[in-house]
Amino acid sequence: MHLELSPEQAAFRAAIDAFARAEVAPHAAAIDESGAFPLDVVRAAGRHGLLGATVPKHWGGGGLDYLSYVLAIESIARASATVAVALTVTNSLVAELIAHAGGAQHQDRWLRRLTSGEVIGAFALSEPEAGTDAANQKTRAVKTAAGFHLTGRKVWVANAEVASVVVVFASTRPGLRDKGVTAFLIPMDSPGITKTARADSLGVRGLGCMDLEFDMDVADEQVLGSIDQGFPLAMWALQGGRVAIAAQALGIGEAALAEAIAYAKERQAFGQPIANYQAIKWMLADRATELEAARMLTWKAATAKDRQERSTLEASMAKLAASEAAHHAADRAMQILASAGYRRGSVVERLFRDVLATEIYQGTSEAQRLIIAGRLLGTS
Ligand SMILES: Cc1cc2nc3c(=O)[nH]c(=O)nc-3n(C[C@H](O)[C@H](O)[C@H](O)COP(=O)(O)OP(=O)(O)OC[C@H]3O[C@@H](n4cnc5c(N)ncnc54)[C@H](O)[C@@H]3O)c2cc1C
Repeated sequence: MHLELSPEQAAFRAAIDAFARAEVAPHAAAIDESGAFPLDVVRAAGRHGLLGATVPKHWGGGGLDYLSYVLAIESIARASATVAVALTVTNSLVAELIAHAGGAQHQDRWLRRLTSGEVIGAFALSEPEAGTDAANQKTRAVKTAAGFHLTGRKVWVANAEVASVVVVFASTRPGLRDKGVTAFLIPMDSPGITKTARADSLGVRGLGCMDLEFDMDVADEQVLGSIDQGFPLAMWALQGGRVAIAAQALGIGEAALAEAIAYAKERQAFGQPIANYQAIKWMLADRATELEAARMLTWKAATAKDRQERSTLEASMAKLAASEAAHHAADRAMQILASAGYRRGSVVERLFRDVLATEIYQGTSEAQRLIIAGRLLGTS
């Protein structure tokens, strides 16, 4: 087993790190403050191959292995959690899904535009009554002579504020839950889509999350994959997405740890730096160890995905471990900075708010535990 990066992966990580420090980090506070979607920064990341990072090169993608992709997301998240997650949505939940399951009409129309950053993608699975219980889809797609009539409401659709294309999941066989869901690829400027609400969120502000209402006709050619086979496609996309969110969490956790280390060395109490006190040393040591363990799980999940193995378990373990390790890191960083961290506008205050989302989206920590336990007990 090799636990080292190849020279190409290490060089790629160094290049993205430099980009993130120079062109992403300076915007992080303003993105958080304004809540505006950072389209220019996302497109700049696209010019470094981070939109459609793992999409094959003949569609304009980066053709990267999954490990390189997660290294990049971790670097970007250290600079801005919002930019990192916006990239993972277009990458893992839209472009990879179109490359994996789309017909030539979808791939030709959207992939080059997504990978170049000309257009941004969104993924609409969650509904008011379908969060963790994602199969409980109330959005309906009823067969018509020319295609389907789609009605329903989606919530928390990240990137939707600026997206040009959205993957929408709808029940085509009510009552059959995961056996009767179909995925549709829909241009956002189609008649019959209404953006009904913009989420004002605690963290990852600027993600452009909207609620969407649908009352529209869609053509048969807009079905992504096969009719009634949309739920496994959603789960396939989320498998990659969860590895990317694990990487996002690692980046946030690392940023929090770096803030805590710098402050502990500089802040004096009782005539010496607080880093000299064992209580502080242990907090730092424990958080660094947890993050490194989570990183190993994340790299393992990424390489399993590279080998085209079914990596549901690895992805869930990586997301669970990384999001909780990052939460602990932000929490202890807040304790070490104390009032300096608690002040509105401090970096640690932003990281503390951002990190909580990693335990919620693309499956809560409880959902990941259900998946892991299901595998252990043979009940999944
Ligand atoms: C910032 C943000 C961005 C998002 N972006 C998107 C997006 O782009 N596209 C999209 O489709 N969705 C998106 N979501 C929605 C997200 O995927 C859901 O919020 C998430 O799946 C949880 O669903 P819920 O909020 O309805 O919570 P619920 O499912 O109602 O869960 C409430 C609580 O109950 C727990 N729970 C539920 N069922 C069980 C169980 N069986 N056992 C134990 N505990 C359980 C949950 O873990 C949680 O703690 C986003 C959410 C956020 C916050």
